[in-house]
Amino acid sequence: METKRWDVTIIGAGLAGLTAAVCLAQAGQQVLLLEQSTRLGGRAATDERQGSRLNLGPHALYKTGAGLKTLRELGVEPNAGQVKLAGQLLTEHKAHRLPVTAGRLLMSGCFSLGEKAELASLLTRIGKLDPRTVEGLTLQEWLYGGLKGTNARRFLLALARLSTYANAPELISAGAVVRQYQMSLGGVYYVHEGWQTMVDALGVRATAAGAAVRTGHKVTRIRGTHPELTVQLQDGTEICTRAVLSTLRPQVTAALAGAAPDSHLGRLGRQVVPVYGSALDVVVRRLPNPQANFALHLEQPFYYANHSFTARLTQDPEHAVLHLFRYNSPQEAGSPERHRGELERFLDRLQPGWQREVVTTRYLPRIAVTNGLPTVERVIAARRAAQPETVVADMPGLYLAGDWVVGESLLADAAIVSGKELAERLLRL
Ligand SMILES: Cc1cc2nc3c(=O)[nH]c(=O)nc-3n(C[C@H](O)[C@H](O)[C@H](O)COP(=O)(O)OP(=O)(O)OC[C@H]3O[C@@H](n4cnc5c(N)ncnc54)[C@H](O)[C@@H]3O)c2cc1C
Repeated sequence: METKRWDVTIIGAGLAGLTAAVCLAQAGQQVLLLEQSTRLGGRAATDERQGSRLNLGPHALYKTGAGLKTLRELGVEPNAGQVKLAGQLLTEHKAHRLPVTAGRLLMSGCFSLGEKAELASLLTRIGKLDPRTVEGLTLQEWLYGGLKGTNARRFLLALARLSTYANAPELISAGAVVRQYQMSLGGVYYVHEGWQTMVDALGVRATAAGAAVRTGHKVTRIRGTHPELTVQLQDGTEICTRAVLSTLRPQVTAALAGAAPDSHLGRLGRQVVPVYGSALDVVVRRLPNPQANFALHLEQPFYYANHSFTARLTQDPEHAVLHLFRYNSPQEAGSPERHRGELERFLDRLQPGWQREVVTTRYLPRIAVTNGLPTVERVIAARRAAQPETVVADMPGLYLAGDWVVGESLLADAAIVSGKELAERLLRL
């Protein structure tokens, strides 16, 4: 590894890094992919616990997303089940059916007649709206201009959280939400045996194409400029490379590269707002209430889904993998233990007595769903910029990718697409 001069050294073997590695290696580049963890996948990894497979929180693959399209181009075909969206909409004191069709909305006891009318009208309009026309507004500004009813607004916010995983209406661009919502109308998949199957398939493709994939290698420093960059590892090993592609959060890459506060990376590090959530994942040996497979809370940022209703995730067919999620606002201080208690009480309502059926639980108190929110400020800046934010112009040879990159996609789609686009850019150079 240290005796060779690599064309591209990629830092991080999450979806962005793996995608870039496959694209570059297939095009004949000498690629080194470095991952600090002992396994591939980053936030798209899957844990195996007592015969069940648990993604790191609830993971759904967008059926019409650019991520899946790219995976297929690279020869990775996820084995997955399509989710049928039906379930409950909970308020503090009542459970309603989720109004997923116009008919259900009309029958719903959750909304006033006026709210039903304005929701029906807005949801029809969103489907056809050009996202660019509202990208200069925050979700809150756009929503408060279009909807008057309290529960109508709350429902729109719940749908926005569901499709973007972000609970930041005062920051996120309405354009990004509309685009994501439109895409989610195409449906989502839950992947059989977990997302690790897609990750591992990408890893196999990268290795087959000639990339050197090294886990357990943490990068501690990036130095130099094209074509003489050096990547230093925690054990002191120095790697020579013509280009570096970092898929880490910009703040972290800035620290590794010793970027000045007023440099491209320094500025980007300050602009990028990560979004966190609290994930409670529970495997039960039997469902106390087999009818409850999906629910959102209208007034609280809570999500619940039985992923094994759609995907094969357990060795024992009686067992079920339940994902609960709390979408945390970037502003709130929140305590991890309080969030766990909230999610457990939410589950009490959906699966009463679940504690008696527990096989295993895992709580991730604060996990980043995205390393960077598409805020209005960043979306507008990205439209106006002469160069994409992934090109570090003042440090030639250093490039960036990851789910924080502002473009047409969010979340895993953004990670995969950014990895592909950066690889294509490097190949053009
Ligand atoms: C709870 C939750 C639910 C989600 N649900 C969905 C969903 O339903 N749909 C969807 O599309 N997306 C979802 N996502 C988002 C999706 O998982 C991420 O967007 C995607 O996996 C990010 O990929 P990435 O490559 O950008 O980053 P990461 O996966 O974070 O990869 C970065 C990699 O870099 C490694 N690394 C860090 N520092 C170093 C270092 N110094 N040296 C070497 N390696 C290093 C890390 O270990 C990691 O493996 C969800 C995320 C979470 C957390």
